[in-house]
Amino acid sequence: MEEMTLIFGHKNPDTDSICSSLVHEILDKKNGWKNTKAVRLGNVNKETQFVLDYLGIEAPELIEDVKEGQTVLLVDHNEFAQSANGIEKAKILGVTDHHRIANFETSEPLYYTAKPYGCTATILFEDFKRLGHEIEKKEAVLMLSAIISDTLLFKSPTCTKYDIAACEELAKIANIDINTYGLDMLKAGTDLSDFTPEELINIDSKEFANGDYKFQVAQVNTACIEDVLQNKEAIETAMNNFMKENGSNMFVLLITDIINSNSQAIVLGDTLTFEKAFSKTVQNNMAFLEGVVSRKKQVAPIILNVL
Ligand code: MG
Ligand code: MG
Ligand code: MG
Repeated sequence: MEEMTLIFGHKNPDTDSICSSLVHEILDKKNGWKNTKAVRLGNVNKETQFVLDYLGIEAPELIEDVKEGQTVLLVDHNEFAQSANGIEKAKILGVTDHHRIANFETSEPLYYTAKPYGCTATILFEDFKRLGHEIEKKEAVLMLSAIISDTLLFKSPTCTKYDIAACEELAKIANIDINTYGLDMLKAGTDLSDFTPEELINIDSKEFANGDYKFQVAQVNTACIEDVLQNKEAIETAMNNFMKENGSNMFVLLITDIINSNSQAIVLGDTLTFEKAFSKTVQNNMAFLEGVVSRKKQVAPIILNVL
C-alpha cells in the first residue's frame, strides 16, 4: 500500500481537531490527493461523539506517535508540545490552523495556512470556496459543528464574522437550525458524570511552554459550575499528580459555564504567576474569571505575557 499522509489535530482532541481532520481528508480527495488519512491523538469527547453519531460515521483511527519521516498534515495546532509524540522527526507537509505559532520549525518548505479565525473549519470552508469544490452535507455538518464548538455558539471573543458567515451557509446546506443543534451538541459535551477526575482534567487540556517554564490549561464545559466543584478535592489531587508526572509549574483548570459565559478557575502550583496575570487573589485554589470562556484569547496569552 502506498504510504499514507496522516492528518491530525492536537492531543486531547476537541470537535475542531476531529472534524477538521476529517474535512481536510475530504478536501484532499476532491483535489485528487488520494493518500491522506485523518487520524486522532486521543479519545473522542462526548460533544464530538454527538457529531459523529448525528452523521453515523466512525471516529478516525487513534494513533499515539509518528515514526521518523512520516508525512503529516496538521490541523488546529502547530505547537509541538500539543502534537503527536515524535513530531520533531516527522515530515510536516502542511498546517491549517488558527492559533499562535510557537515552538514550530521544519527543515523543508510546507503549505501553511494561518488565519486568526475562531475555528480551523472556517479556514477549510474558505478553501472549499477558493478551490471551487461543492460542499456536501457530511462536510457541512462537520464544519458547522467545529465552528459552534470553538466559538461556543458565537459567544466566544475568538469568534469572527467569517466564522458566523461560514456557519450560516453550512447550516443551509446541512438543513440544520444552528441554535437547536448547537445547544444539543454543546450540552452533550457537558455530561461529565462518568469521568474520573484524571479523565476530566484530560478531556481538553493543553500544555504551554516558555523556556523551561511549563503550564497546563485544561477546560471543561458545564451548565452548572457547582456540580463540577462537588468533586473539587479529587480533581485537585489529579491535577497535582499530573504536575508531578509532567514537571509542570502550574495547572489551571477552567470550568466554563456555557450558559452564562464565565469560568471558575482552579489554580495549582505557581499561583503567584496566575495572580499577577489576572490581578486576582487565588482563594481556596480558586479564582472566578468573569466573561472568560476562551483559553486561547483570554487565558494562555495573559499568563505567557507575565512569564
Ligand atoms: Mg482545538
Ligand atoms: Mg480550533
Ligand atoms: Mg477549544
